[in-house]
Amino acid sequence: MSKKILDVKNLKKYFTTDQGVVKAVDGVSFSIDEEETLGIVGESGSGKSTIAYTVMGIYRPTEGEVIIKGQKFASKKIKTSLNLRKEMQIVFQDPGSSLNPSQTIKQILELPLKVHNIAKTKSEIQSKVKNLMSMVQLPEDFLHKYPGMIGGGERQMVSIARALAVNPSFILLDEPTSALDVSIQAKIIDMLMDFQKQFKLSYLFITHDLSLMKNVANRVAVMYLGKICETAPTNEFYSNPLHPYTQMLLSSIPVISDEEEDLKPKRVISSGEIPSPVNVPSGCGFRTRCPKKMAICSEESPEIVEVSKGHFVCCHLFSK
Ligand code: SF4
Repeated sequence: MSKKILDVKNLKKYFTTDQGVVKAVDGVSFSIDEEETLGIVGESGSGKSTIAYTVMGIYRPTEGEVIIKGQKFASKKIKTSLNLRKEMQIVFQDPGSSLNPSQTIKQILELPLKVHNIAKTKSEIQSKVKNLMSMVQLPEDFLHKYPGMIGGGERQMVSIARALAVNPSFILLDEPTSALDVSIQAKIIDMLMDFQKQFKLSYLFITHDLSLMKNVANRVAVMYLGKICETAPTNEFYSNPLHPYTQMLLSSIPVISDEEEDLKPKRVISSGEIPSPVNVPSGCGFRTRCPKKMAICSEESPEIVEVSKGHFVCCHLFSK
């Protein structure tokens, strides 16, 4: 039986602004098993980054909770403990701003080992750091360089090594390759997939790149205006998308062959941009762009329902 590692329950994160309350994440629930990758996709402004920061305890949730290996990690009332922090690591999109530019790579990798008491003596720390460098295939002479002296892909490998330093159970990957050259993206993805198997890691992989997601995720969730509108196992997600928003996203993926074009959903024409999160439409948040909207869509918010095993949709077309 698969072992549940991360459990996110009814997570909400609201911000009060001069324009009103922004419901950046509005009642999101999901779980991730050991060695599983859940992908979250959505446009800018859908709430993907706020989910990342709230799950990691960087933002305190407005409501709901984050549970790691059965222990509460973050909620409105709980301050995250150092011990549990070790279980949850993050790799950010831009390694240039997530690594301290005034520290050498050696200092960057030593810090988590010292803070979490992973290695005690100087020689233990040294050997752990060397091992981390070899795992991410970086030469030892980089240890004395600063992040600004190495390439973007190499900096991202340092970020991955730093995340692995504390033997976590879960890593949140927030667009880990989108700031990198195409040539290095595949290498980073292969590395992450290898580490997942080797260390039985659970990943939450956030990206706007639906083609990439197809190759990395076991399950995919789509976000729109702070809510999840559809979740399904990856094959089912790409072959049988049900929510009009998912169909719109998938129909717009560029492909290079007629065979791939045939596999895509028929082009779904939607109008407009994602609305301001301060002014979320009544009823279904997608109704202002949805080609299939009905009268009920502006009156009632749809509930998320399971339409087949593991395939959940939040749309009145599927309400029971
Ligand atoms: Fe479209 Fe209505 Fe479904 Fe929303 S609930 S996605 S508006 S059909």
